[in-house]
Amino acid sequence: MKSYPKILSKNFEVPHAQHIGVYLSGGGYEAARKVYTSWKPEQLIEEVKKSNLRGLGGAGFSTGMKWAFIPKDSTRPHYVVVNADEGEPGTFKDRYILCKDPHALVEGILIACFAVGSHKAFVYIRGEYVEPIRIFREAVREAHEKGFLGKNVFGTGYEVEIVIHQGAGAYICGEETALLESLEGKKGFPRLKPPFPAVKGVFGCPTVINNVETLACLPPIVNLGAEWFAKLGCEKNGGTRLYSVSGHVNRPGLYELPLGTPLREIIEEHAGGVWKGRQLKAVIPGGISASILRSDEVDIKMDFNSLARVGSMLGSAGVVVMDETTCMVTTLLVAARFFAHESCGQCSPCREGTGWVLKMIERIYEGHGRSQDLDNLLDIGKNMMGNTICAFGDAAPTPVISYITKFRAEFEYHVRHGKCDLEDRSQKSE
Ligand code: SF4
Repeated sequence: MKSYPKILSKNFEVPHAQHIGVYLSGGGYEAARKVYTSWKPEQLIEEVKKSNLRGLGGAGFSTGMKWAFIPKDSTRPHYVVVNADEGEPGTFKDRYILCKDPHALVEGILIACFAVGSHKAFVYIRGEYVEPIRIFREAVREAHEKGFLGKNVFGTGYEVEIVIHQGAGAYICGEETALLESLEGKKGFPRLKPPFPAVKGVFGCPTVINNVETLACLPPIVNLGAEWFAKLGCEKNGGTRLYSVSGHVNRPGLYELPLGTPLREIIEEHAGGVWKGRQLKAVIPGGISASILRSDEVDIKMDFNSLARVGSMLGSAGVVVMDETTCMVTTLLVAARFFAHESCGQCSPCREGTGWVLKMIERIYEGHGRSQDLDNLLDIGKNMMGNTICAFGDAAPTPVISYITKFRAEFEYHVRHGKCDLEDRSQKSE
């Protein structure tokens, strides 16, 4: 098996790495100290731009560019908001960082605050992450005690405070403007954009929103340089990625590998291949919102650009593997239930569309599908896309369109025979 440098997961197996003493003994907080005592914010922003660090929550936007959008002439406070509302099905990377290496996140936050001139960071953590919240809270307390947070960071007189905010279980609050609304104490409704958060974010102030994994990349970039980091990955995709691999594989788990690692290598080498000696049927490469790939499409590099070229996306790098016994109608039913439940209901195409999609797929699944259902489903999906306030309206129909288009024969069999062809095949083979 090929092995690669461990950047984000280097402390995951180190005993007691959550404690500041252990983190410091591995060179922890040196990057933040260096930045606060001898760098200029513009220099840091340029370095991060050069590193090709992309937003690892899923959007993949250049982190350095995002920081550069914060207006320099604004007299209002600037804020850093950390999106730790990890809710994309099939994704569990941020939980590992919060639990196993929380000081990497605290240090990343310190570096981001310096870059954008912020004195306060809000960390919005998924409410169900009770243990990660407890561990992260303790890390913040330890950093405060050492003088790395508070009114005099590293003795420079610069103030940084971290506020931890616990979410209440809504998937849509992972959308950055819904997260800001929720943080302000309102319903988690996504905002119309523009204005973008860089100009008018939390409490109407310039705000940069970064994901946990993105921020954890900052200390190694500062310590080892942008060029080194960029070279770890591939063109325009710097560094490594934490791939959450689940489903029908022999070794499900979290794997840190370079951006651009072939999907087939992730499944066959690192995750031990498809379980029970079965054939691969399909893979979701980047969380439930990503277009599904058939088994003949997995010879693809796992980076933002390569997956976009084939109409899918790297997203949160939540890789869900399905073997030959997987019924695509059932799989789509699970996705449709999720999206219908999580739509915030502000926009008619999303609110009504997710409900109609769920009803029709339930009907097909229960054996009462109608001949026009598949085309109607595709039609509803296409009409949702691009017609809503937030990207949820594009994400929800993506499984509908990609599953039906790529596995049409299986859906048609369900409609014609009122059951799954996999049931028929297994009965014939008995
Ligand atoms: Fe809410 Fe859906 Fe509209 Fe997004 S697209 S704002 S989730 S109704």
